[in-house]
Amino acid sequence: MLDLADQLPGLIFQLHRSADGHLHFPLLMGSGIQLLDLDPQRLAENAEPALERLHDADYPGLMAAIERSARWGSPITLKFRFRLSADRCRWIAARAQPQRIETGVLWHGMMLDISEQVAEEERLRQLSDSDALTGLANRRKLLSRLEEEISLSNRHATPLSLMMIDLDHFKTINDTWGHLQGDATLRELADCCNALLREEDLLARLGGEEFALLLPLTSQRNAARLAERLRREIAEHDFDGLGSGRITVSIGITEHRVGDTLDHLIQRADASLYRAKHLGRNRVVAGD
Ligand code: GH3
Ligand code: MG
Ligand code: MG
Repeated sequence: MLDLADQLPGLIFQLHRSADGHLHFPLLMGSGIQLLDLDPQRLAENAEPALERLHDADYPGLMAAIERSARWGSPITLKFRFRLSADRCRWIAARAQPQRIETGVLWHGMMLDISEQVAEEERLRQLSDSDALTGLANRRKLLSRLEEEISLSNRHATPLSLMMIDLDHFKTINDTWGHLQGDATLRELADCCNALLREEDLLARLGGEEFALLLPLTSQRNAARLAERLRREIAEHDFDGLGSGRITVSIGITEHRVGDTLDHLIQRADASLYRAKHLGRNRVVAGD
């Protein structure tokens, strides 16, 4: 049994909390101990050296879970990051069952390193949120961020603007220079726009040659200023294989109004874009 426990690709443990709140690990077994690089004998006295290595963002959650479990006798089910060095973490999943004993609470549990699994989930999430051609966020991602930002703006009455950006006469570009050149141009355009944006802005490719730009905490006035910069930058940009002056965009802008739904916002931005096209393209139209 002992041999088996030492070979386990994880950890089994007992965590004890005495009436005064002191935490220690009377039992720690499994090959996972080496990974954590902690001395089991020290931890048998005091859990502090292990707790100190938790990621700051996960520490309160873990302590709250221990508290809840002790109070209600419910099992602990938790994921947290354990720091190996200043910039390296492993993701650990822990499950533990509490038992009330004379000296306090004793948990019986196990931990598994799930870093690879978490990385794979992150990779899949990235994939399902992004557009394969440009690497930008896709429509799905835009809509879910938009929902979040609208609800924030409705609650706090903070400004929020949305831009629709559509390439002008892009069919002609494809017909003249070919689809591959068209694809490369879309990629270059995405990079060109992103260079002018802030971290919190979200540029997405909605499909085809149509993009949307979500601007949290931005009034329509400031969005219009940025749109004008984008428009000019693109019109003057020296596109690989095309040179400058051939690629232009039309941009429609709208600002969130309290009570707006996602559909309202998109419809108004689309209407502005439609007017920009109608007025001759290569221009910005804001509001209605
Ligand atoms: P407008 O100024 O009215 O927007 O004219 P347009 O030609 O850009 O608009 P239209 O909607 O008629 O055509 C869009 C064209 O965009 C059709 C297609 O050739 C091109 N397109 C759409 N998606 C892609 C893509 O993924 N790659 C490439 N290369 N071209 C695309
Ligand atoms: Mg177009
Ligand atoms: Mg279009």
